[in-house]
Amino acid sequence: MSAHIIDGKAIAAHLREEIKAQVTNLGKPVGLAVILVGDDPASHVYVGNKIKACAHVGIQSFEHKMSDEATEEEIRHVIKNLNENPDIHGILLQLPLPQHLSAVQESLVQSIAPAKDVDGLTMTNAGKLFLGMNDGLIPCTPQGSLRLIKSAEENLSGKHAVVIGRSNLFGKPMAQLLLQENCTVTIAHSRTKDLASVCKTADILVAAVGRPKMVQADWVKDGAIVIDVGINRLDTGKLCGDVDFDAVKDIASAITPVPGGVGPMTIACLLANTVKAATF
Ligand code: NAP
Repeated sequence: MSAHIIDGKAIAAHLREEIKAQVTNLGKPVGLAVILVGDDPASHVYVGNKIKACAHVGIQSFEHKMSDEATEEEIRHVIKNLNENPDIHGILLQLPLPQHLSAVQESLVQSIAPAKDVDGLTMTNAGKLFLGMNDGLIPCTPQGSLRLIKSAEENLSGKHAVVIGRSNLFGKPMAQLLLQENCTVTIAHSRTKDLASVCKTADILVAAVGRPKMVQADWVKDGAIVIDVGINRLDTGKLCGDVDFDAVKDIASAITPVPGGVGPMTIACLLANTVKAATF
């Protein structure tokens, strides 16, 4: 039987409507600042999409474009001003920063006020998630992925979830969220032995690696929920995920496509975090 295709676009559109109503009900302007350093074309596209989404729900966006040669001090100065600006509720530093700033990227992220850290990457927000405190800001992609999983199955208690990938941005927070849902969680990574067998035990399989079509049909348990976080561009110019969608859709009970799955949810959850930050 062919899997239910989880429609991330539709679920994100629904969430955006809820956020729009929340913005109206707040009765005050909500502001998101986006800092974009350099001229990486993909980052420009991502930022453009985020700004468009803000406009759709009535969030004011403020774009801070900085040159490829911007220094650590210049970026730190912009972040400091935004931290102190009461009209700004969320601050997003678009990553990755240009190569010459890679050594200070983490320290710049950590200089964002935790109450405005809508990417959920500061130690305070990561710590709150780890401790199971619900007043923090949760990274957008794992938050969105959990919403997609729950659209397919509300009660995740006791299920075995396998997350492939252990990044701070995705894999680790995703595992924490699934643990909070009472899943038994396995985190797999590049050193995991016999990855295919590990994946085959998963009721919920989440792939966030960055390797096109790595997850094959014989890695997937019958009836599993499969969430594909990967975004890979093929030589043909087409986007594809980390999962061999055409083969796996005949095994899984539910699966996200790429594009149109996790991607739209990431932006919708950024908006949700910004509105949450405006209530602090
Ligand atoms: P990342 O920091 O590069 O992490 C990749 C993870 O995959 C690492 O933990 C790595 O293991 C693991 N890995 C690499 N090769 C592997 C292999 N052969 N077998 C098993 N594990 C392997 O990437 P990320 O930021 O988490 O992103 C992952 C993917 O998700 C990328 O394609 C990215 O574009 C996509 N993404 C999508 C969205 C969205 O909105 N849809 C958002 C964020 C990211 P080690 O730790 O051992 O090196």
